[in-house]
Amino acid sequence: MYVKSFGCQMNVYDSQRMADTLAPEGYLEAATAEDADLIILNTCHIREKAAEKVYSELGRVRRLKEAAAADGRNVLIAVAGCVAQAQGDEIIRRAPAVDLVVGSQNYHRLPDLIARVRRDGKAVDTEFPLDDKFDHLAIPSLASTRARGVTAFVTVQEGCDKFCTFCVVPYTRGAETSRPVDKILTEVERLAEAGVREITLIGQNVNAYHGEGPDGRPWSLARLLGLIAQLRGIERLRYTTSHPLDMADDLIAAHRDLPQLMPQLHLPVQSGSDRILAAMNRRHTRADYVKVVARLRQARADLALTSDFIVGFPGETEEDFAATLSLVGEIGYSGAFSFKYSPRPGTPGADMDDQVDEAAKSDRLHRLQAAIDRSQAAFNHSCLGRTFSVLFERPGRHGGQLVGRSPYRQPVQIEAPPALIGEIAPVTITEVASNSLFGALALAQEPALAGAGA
Ligand code: SF4
Repeated sequence: MYVKSFGCQMNVYDSQRMADTLAPEGYLEAATAEDADLIILNTCHIREKAAEKVYSELGRVRRLKEAAAADGRNVLIAVAGCVAQAQGDEIIRRAPAVDLVVGSQNYHRLPDLIARVRRDGKAVDTEFPLDDKFDHLAIPSLASTRARGVTAFVTVQEGCDKFCTFCVVPYTRGAETSRPVDKILTEVERLAEAGVREITLIGQNVNAYHGEGPDGRPWSLARLLGLIAQLRGIERLRYTTSHPLDMADDLIAAHRDLPQLMPQLHLPVQSGSDRILAAMNRRHTRADYVKVVARLRQARADLALTSDFIVGFPGETEEDFAATLSLVGEIGYSGAFSFKYSPRPGTPGADMDDQVDEAAKSDRLHRLQAAIDRSQAAFNHSCLGRTFSVLFERPGRHGGQLVGRSPYRQPVQIEAPPALIGEIAPVTITEVASNSLFGALALAQEPALAGAGA
């Protein structure tokens, strides 16, 4: 079996759960699509290009299926994820080599669906079932968890009720739901047992988390983080993706009080113009966002912020765009993703009249990316000469080299023995090149960062 993930970390997590669910059926993970009898494309629908990428990948996979058939092998092709959820049977119409279309809430049914395909031919399952898929998804073996490394994602929340006018998530992933605290805790304990040191709690709107706690009441994300921080072996915590409106007081305080919570936060703003924020139905103003950031930095002075931006949303003028550029300057991001607006069918933005022409979008994207690059370079250069803790994740490209992550999530490369993988050690940054930091093991940790706990 070969599972290819497109898009966000939630899909990477779902792909692993799909592999875990199929493992007891005898499906082993293949290194390449060429070696697999079942190929699953776990798709993303957030951008138009992402969906188009899936169709071009399906062309490649179809040729593999045809070549295997010529050798007498029957290769099944499944499409999962948000494109599957949004387009259903349309996928089989456009790409008839596809055998199975499975929506993002139905992965636990994969063994049955595959049996159905082998018995009756094609199958499509994009219902939103009433049962919780997390209750049915298989638990990974310790060996496969170990093979996945020392950092892991854990989905704690899915779906979104915000209905930003450019976004398909509320339609493809449905209403906001949160997993109960005890289920998350069991999963994290198992990850810790397998040697995972850093957990990122994920959800489309993760800081709206309100899962049922052991006391039967809804728990906030801050409370959940506080509980996980007490688990032996878990040294670092992160969470993503957050909405500025849901940065509650206790979550801001957690950045001050929880040493395991890393000083880095992805907080999408999308635009710096109030007019465009209102048209996007973001439900906050630029001033609200700046205020939240100030409060976060008051709680944790060295917090590194990243964000998402959309340029060329319908009605965006040069003046609106200038407001976005000025926000990048004002916040001082350590990095950000930026995209040209592309209308997603079924969202209100797609029906707005004043669409911005492509040339203006491209020009603005170019200017925004240059501003983000400058901001990121300034942040990275501010790390030169500093010493902070690095979690070593894997060997580097060159012999004797290891790659780890700083508390701010930057990749850090050093010369060190492989025995350090999974360890956290102080590193002094000696060089910054492109978006990577290079350093050397240090003897002592910088006092200002001791609170990072990692
Ligand atoms: S908050 Fe995020 S996931 Fe929800 S609709 Fe807006 S952009 Fe989409």
